Amino acid sequence: MSSFLLEIVTPERKVYAEDVNMVIVKGSEGEMGIMPNHIPMVTPLKIAPITIKKKNAEEKIAVGGGFLEIRKDKVVILAESAELPGDIDLARAEAAKQRAEQRLSGKKDNHDQLRAELALQRAMNRIAVKQG
Ligand code: ATP
Repeated sequence: MSSFLLEIVTPERKVYAEDVNMVIVKGSEGEMGIMPNHIPMVTPLKIAPITIKKKNAEEKIAVGGGFLEIRKDKVVILAESAELPGDIDLARAEAAKQRAEQRLSGKKDNHDQLRAELALQRAMNRIAVKQG
């Protein structure tokens, strides 16, 4: 099966660099599966798990938004944050989820609401990836 290099980079570190067969991401226009030899393009990514297919294995990574860049030689995900299941602290994500839910239930201005909604999405994304 043909493959391509997938790199996932955050402002802090390179999280992933491996040959993969396919990656499924949630772009601004919905789910998108990227196979080898895709035409070059850039698209924004939502806060959502990505699925990586490699031989017979499948991996999930919690990506906290960013951009997907398809180059001729590789695919790069420039992520705001990215964690493999083993890197995710479940208790921390659950605490972040609770804080966000509390903020959303209180009366706040729109800016705070949006921030709390994004924090909730990040926490739920991490919980989903950690729990497989
Ligand atoms: P928190 O409120 O718990 O800090 P957050 O969603 O605000 O969560 P981010 O700003 O998205 O956190 O990420 C900051 C850094 O902390 C990133 O390096 C991210 O990978 C890491 N991080 C955040 N939450 C977790 C978690 N539950 N487990 C492991 N790493 C995490």
